Amino acid sequence: MQHQQTSPFANEAGGQLFARISPSCISILRATGPRPTDHRTRYGYIPDHTKEQNEINEMFKEGLLFIGDWHTHPQKIPSPSRSDQLSIRNVFRGSRHHLPALLLLIAGTEGFPAGLHLSFHSADTDIKLEPI
Ligand SMILES: [Zn+2]
Repeated sequence: MQHQQTSPFANEAGGQLFARISPSCISILRATGPRPTDHRTRYGYIPDHTKEQNEINEMFKEGLLFIGDWHTHPQKIPSPSRSDQLSIRNVFRGSRHHLPALLLLIAGTEGFPAGLHLSFHSADTDIKLEPI
């Protein structure tokens, strides 16, 4: 909520999500970013990949697993762009992990949960999550 693009000049922001995982529950305990070295515009966000890897290494020492990414969109009800879908798939394919999928969280400008998009992505499957 802190980084929702509710003002007309706010740039996209983003970061990574870290969790503890049990057989029945994924608890997202930390969200990183945005970082001063990320490239941020009104309609775009390119993270600092070196800092991302550093965060993954540091969180792993604390027992937290990288579970996916978050970023904002200047849309009321956000939906992932084609670029977002390709990006999270590439992260899934390029990462060493034992997860069946990675989580993509996008925060729009509307209140939550309407303004929150959540989906799981594997190498070839996308599953949108709905609030219950
Ligand atoms: Zn996006």
